[in-house]
Amino acid sequence: MAHINENYLKLPGSYLFSEIARRVNVFKDENPEADIIRLGIGDVTKPLPEAVIKELHAAVDEMADASTFRGYGPEQGYDFLIEKIIEFDFAPHGVNLAIDEVFVSDGSKSDTANIQEIFGTDNVIAITDPVYPVYVDSNVMAGRSGTLGADGKWSDMVYIPCTAENGFVPQLPTEKVDLIYLCFPNNPTGTTISKEQLKIWVDFAKENQVIILYDAAYEAYITEADVPHSIYEIEGAKEVAIEFRSFSKNAGFTGTRCSYTVVPKECMGYTASGEAISLNGLWNRRQCTKFNGTPYIIQKGAEAVYTAAGQAQIKALIDYYMYNAKLIREGVKSTGIEVFGGVNAPYIWLKTPEGLDSWSFFDRLLNEVHIVGTPGAGFGPSGEGYFRLTAFGTKENTEEAIERFTKKFKL
Ligand code: PLP
Repeated sequence: MAHINENYLKLPGSYLFSEIARRVNVFKDENPEADIIRLGIGDVTKPLPEAVIKELHAAVDEMADASTFRGYGPEQGYDFLIEKIIEFDFAPHGVNLAIDEVFVSDGSKSDTANIQEIFGTDNVIAITDPVYPVYVDSNVMAGRSGTLGADGKWSDMVYIPCTAENGFVPQLPTEKVDLIYLCFPNNPTGTTISKEQLKIWVDFAKENQVIILYDAAYEAYITEADVPHSIYEIEGAKEVAIEFRSFSKNAGFTGTRCSYTVVPKECMGYTASGEAISLNGLWNRRQCTKFNGTPYIIQKGAEAVYTAAGQAQIKALIDYYMYNAKLIREGVKSTGIEVFGGVNAPYIWLKTPEGLDSWSFFDRLLNEVHIVGTPGAGFGPSGEGYFRLTAFGTKENTEEAIERFTKKFKL
């Protein structure tokens, strides 16, 4: 008899986005003429940069010719892309990496979900709350969660609340933990931490032989000087941190799929008897067994991000979304509603007014101004009472949405 992995049965349905879709559909049926503006989903709306498109076409042509055709590539990614990643994304921040410390892949979603496989099932997982749900669900599937309580928390996981009360700065856990997921700039709160604050976590990880899984998918949106672009800017972080980066949000690759993960060779995990083992070797083994590399064509497209034209074009994309972020942030603020994020991230996190819970505010926004956002409660218990708006809409839609919003909620 084929037994299933019963951990999958513990997972509640992916309630958040299906429930949003359900409520929007009910509203649309009742109000077919309403012009609904969606500022909910974290997907980009602008097309790929021209430099990327040009290189994608050229790579397709290479595949059409026997002399330039490529079959299986290196599972870790082509050197031409990894060299650019190191030169452009890390060297300017004083971080030196070797070619075999960078693993190109098809998305930070898969990498942040798969990374837990190289760790024992007895590790205690800590997550910041609210959180990108992939970190939680992938550990539930692997059997590290315990049971889901009425408070929305898994019994074996450690929740680190990030709320307005602590300025969205995660505080060190008092319980014993082994793996910590940190995401900065943060989805969903749009907030960041300083180098000094991140150093506290790196020092804690070093003292306690803990690994930090650092998701920097929104790094390109950082505008402020003291916000670290990479965790490796912090001394000693290479010993305790794995970093995830993606081309999805800086270069519009959400549908094209390219990302990378950095696993420094000095980053160690431990056997039950306490022997230190390099995680780089384990991740390499995992990828070589289960992954056959990101397509050559896609890696050529990603390489074009690092040309002069590519750099200028991705800057224009980010500026476009950050104009929206500023507009949303300032518009919401002008109504007296408390607002966070949107300065170093394309997400704006607001405190729901009049003590409304997240879903009641969702309904109000949909019914009264025809705007769709994301209820904070969908990202974890500490997201209750908050609401996420994204800057990924078009400029025109965002301007219209904020005009409606400010008219409605102006004090
Ligand atoms: N990490 C965070 C925090 C995200 O918000 C997202 C996507 O929304 C991802 C990772 C996934 O990125 P990718 O498109 O590279 O899979």
